Amino acid sequence: MKNDNPHPMTWQFAQRTSRLQSSAIREILKITMRPEITSFAGGLPSPETFPVEQMQKAFDAVLSRQGKVALQYGPTDGYAPLRAWIADSLSTDGAKILPEQVLMLSGSQQGLDLLGKVLIDPGSKVLVETPSYLGALQAFSLYEPEFVSLPSDDQGLHAESIDTLGAGGRLLYALPNFQNPTGRTMTLDRRVALVEACARHSIPLIEDNPYGALSYVGKTLPSMLSMNPGGVVYMGSFSKVLTPGIRLGYVVAPLPLIQRLEQAKQAADLHTAQLTQMVVYEVIKDGFLDTHIPTIRTLYAGQCQAMMDALTEFFPAGVTWTKPEGGMFTWVTLPAHINSTQLLAEAVEQLVAFVPGAPFYANSPQTNTLRLSFVTVPPEKIRAGIERLGKLIKAKM
Ligand code: PMP
Repeated sequence: MKNDNPHPMTWQFAQRTSRLQSSAIREILKITMRPEITSFAGGLPSPETFPVEQMQKAFDAVLSRQGKVALQYGPTDGYAPLRAWIADSLSTDGAKILPEQVLMLSGSQQGLDLLGKVLIDPGSKVLVETPSYLGALQAFSLYEPEFVSLPSDDQGLHAESIDTLGAGGRLLYALPNFQNPTGRTMTLDRRVALVEACARHSIPLIEDNPYGALSYVGKTLPSMLSMNPGGVVYMGSFSKVLTPGIRLGYVVAPLPLIQRLEQAKQAADLHTAQLTQMVVYEVIKDGFLDTHIPTIRTLYAGQCQAMMDALTEFFPAGVTWTKPEGGMFTWVTLPAHINSTQLLAEAVEQLVAFVPGAPFYANSPQTNTLRLSFVTVPPEKIRAGIERLGKLIKAKM
């Protein structure tokens, strides 16, 4: 067949697409898919944790009992029993969450896009931690905000900075538990202060919590949602506690916002697949997660320890890293003169990969930082990979 095009098209893209950059993580993942590379780069959960057998049984059960419902279009807000389960799991004595406040999503990533759509105008101030989740920065970017990076440290975000930097903010996006990318946890005092500051300034506080269940010690600090359900928008996901391949997450918000988000979702994809929602409900309805999540925590705690031991053994003085109490990541700070993007090119030659820190900053990237994920690499490979990386860094000291 002839391929010549007599009328070649000059594509005129919307201006906002100029802000779209292909994700650094995805680009790196392409290289690091090569089996000979020890990759600390991905943000993927360990496939060892995927409940393949339970999913298979649940697919069979749902299709044989309710196949005609499962394969039909469904409501935009989601599968009612699953929404009720989520509302119940997030309700506390002080803060009751209603099923109507839960909107099911095709991955919690979709919620970031929908929030951008309904809350951000061009030039709106969007407040983020320093650094923050790259995927959120990308999602919000398309709506052309002015990002304000708030001062943050190992204990989380400095809430008092909102009084000086945050006034007029359209939203504040925060990850209190085992943050992506730093692995850090926001202290209780900081959470209380953040909730109060956002309420004082009437700024919707987005609490993104995909890793909260993965505490190595099994306990998690109270959610900010439970402190102020009228002002906090909570996002959760089944990606890290079941499987990311089913693309299932949710957002919990006060009704006026949920209604807007639902309209935006309807325009985006009508609804999240009924089949996967029903299957997930079938898997979790009788308490499966109560036994499954502890197995993930134990696995990840061991992996994290292997990473901490290897970093202590092989990284030179002058390099620091976070000590996560849960989740999948640690964040490394190199001496200021070492650029981690350049280091990555050399690391890949040594068959080891990580994610450079720069894309996680909304403004003024700190180029001497990097993210290491420790959950998909077995301990002996963690040690060997960190040894190689340590040698490269030492040579630059
Ligand atoms: N938020 C954070 C902080 C994440 O790390 C991720 C996944 N890497 C997401 C949201 C999106 O998760 P999903 O769409 O799989 O629910």
